[in-house]
Amino acid sequence: MNKPENLELLKNGKRNDGRAAEELRPIEMEAKVITSADGSAKVKFGNTIALASVYGPRALFPRFMQEAETGILRARYNMAPFSVVDRKSPGPDRRSTEISKVVRLALAPSVLLEDFPKATVDVFMEVIQADGSTRVTALNAAAIALATAGIPMRDLVSAVSCGKIDTTLVADLNGLEDNFGEADMAVAMLPSKNEISLLQMDGLITNEEFFKLLSLAKEKCLEIYEKQKSVLKNLYKVEKEDSDGS
Ligand code: ADP
Repeated sequence: MNKPENLELLKNGKRNDGRAAEELRPIEMEAKVITSADGSAKVKFGNTIALASVYGPRALFPRFMQEAETGILRARYNMAPFSVVDRKSPGPDRRSTEISKVVRLALAPSVLLEDFPKATVDVFMEVIQADGSTRVTALNAAAIALATAGIPMRDLVSAVSCGKIDTTLVADLNGLEDNFGEADMAVAMLPSKNEISLLQMDGLITNEEFFKLLSLAKEKCLEIYEKQKSVLKNLYKVEKEDSDGS
């Protein structure tokens, strides 16, 4: 991304998209958006849109990949070629390979893999529009998708990226902030367990700023967690009403 001329990420306490420092972008979440999948979700953070679909638990082949005592979780993160203004070359690259790995590790503690030995649960995350914080948006969608697939879970996973613009700590970075800010930190957690399952950081901050940013990220993850729970509650309320014929 080229730096736009005269870009001011912070002006009179407002960010370039008009938000206050700790304000999240408008968030939309929808469950069961891909009917062929066992579970799925779409999550929108401002202009960033991620779809997630989950298949499984299903038999894992080739057999030598099976684990006798536990199931395994596989994850694929991808950014669609049309998701950014400069067309992204299709197919896996170093960035998506790394993100696929870290999001798998971020989701794994939430899934009771030991409940389905020899099987796999496959999570596919597709970013269809990218404007910053794509890995955390994809993670929020993946957690809802896992829950709608009926996968036994310890907790949901909620994620956000926070960062530093000039000297101000901010929540939920957009694309310009992600690319031209001082620092960005992606955090995922199992909120009701208060366990962090992803923490990545780029840029330079002080020790004190690190802990402030982490507590801001935790606070925002709890806000996101409430939204994820409410999507799931509404979904099952509607399904129950349908089955009751009301
Ligand atoms: P994340 O999206 O998880 O914050 P990065 O920090 O790697 O991950 O990317 C920051 C932002 O840069 C993305 O959200 C997207 O808006 C933009 N971006 C990433 N990869 C590309 C690409 N290949 N082409 C154009 N923009 C990209």
